[in-house]
Amino acid sequence: MTAPKPLPPGSTIGILGSGQLGRMLATAASRLGLKTHIYCDSSGPAFDVAAARTVGAFTDLERVAAFAETVDVVTYEFENVPKATVEAAERIRPVRPGVRALDFSQDRLVEKQFISSIGVPVAPFAPVDDEAGLAAAASVLGFPSILKTRRLGYDGKGQVRLTCGGDCTGALGRIGHAPAILEGFVAFQFEVSVLVVRGLGGETRFYDVPLNTHRDGILHTSAVPAPIPTRAKARALEIASHVAQKLDFVGVLAVEMFYLGEGAAEPVVVNEIAPRVHNSGHWTLDACLVSQFENHIRAVAGWPLGPTERHSDAIMTNLIGADVDNWQKLAATPKLALHLYGKNEARPGRKMGHVTTLAPKSASS
Ligand code: AMP
Repeated sequence: MTAPKPLPPGSTIGILGSGQLGRMLATAASRLGLKTHIYCDSSGPAFDVAAARTVGAFTDLERVAAFAETVDVVTYEFENVPKATVEAAERIRPVRPGVRALDFSQDRLVEKQFISSIGVPVAPFAPVDDEAGLAAAASVLGFPSILKTRRLGYDGKGQVRLTCGGDCTGALGRIGHAPAILEGFVAFQFEVSVLVVRGLGGETRFYDVPLNTHRDGILHTSAVPAPIPTRAKARALEIASHVAQKLDFVGVLAVEMFYLGEGAAEPVVVNEIAPRVHNSGHWTLDACLVSQFENHIRAVAGWPLGPTERHSDAIMTNLIGADVDNWQKLAATPKLALHLYGKNEARPGRKMGHVTTLAPKSASS
């Protein structure tokens, strides 16, 4: 079978979701002479930079189909797009990455089962549906452990840390009695992620591996290069490539991992996957010739992938909530790239923008 032809400049990429990721995807598309049409249930940062926008419910499948008619290919910027929405779009136009990637990233239990089924290590886990299930899971996994909702958890939301048996009381109530999993606590040295891009023909490229730090469960910084030994890094890339291939993925896939140390039998363990561009790859906008956003667009449009090497070391820091009030000072800071997402209200915990600082490239990646 011959690969489909790349979409020529002037074509339109449809994006489901209007957050900052959609905004940066749309901006990257415009650099290649491609247009974007955003579909979302409310206006958002991506609306400001797109050629066309539709406000519609994700459950309004006729509207979704009408949107798909106006574009050449569809992608999504968040993993909680309802499956039926993607299927409705897919009946009209190709959706990349497809629905399969959503199957494995919307539900933590299904995700962990899939990842371990392909031979990739994850934190020990057990499903939890009720108090008895929590007690049973805790007796196997012990403490400390983390109770997480299976669905719709992000940035540390929908999670409760359990340090002893007494913490189990009321823990399910704190996550709204939603179906959950219990995860054994991984004693990691630090957290990393792999941003892998896979083209329409299966070509796979990686960005360098950032070290990620969190505050209150939200990504705070991503810094490249991470101090991860060569063997562990090679394993991390191999894992990401394996996951992408098993999902028959097209576009950028983020695989978040824990680094356990050189002495560990498995130096890296997967935390979760995101079938999309990712916050821990925002540094690629400033430290690479072609960013994660452009490479995602290239992949979904069937273009050749762009270079992923970093030309500089980089530290990306998120601007969360009121951090953005500092914008004038940040804008005046030498050697700092300021990215603001155009959100009106700086609510606590809300990602308002990010800044990146560069330094001459150290070790080769
Ligand atoms: P998540 O939303 O699952 O990515 O979790 C948010 C953060 O909680 C992660 O980035 C880790 O810092 C921490 N975390 C999550 N799961 C575990 C685990 N099983 N063991 C240790 N830390 C964890």
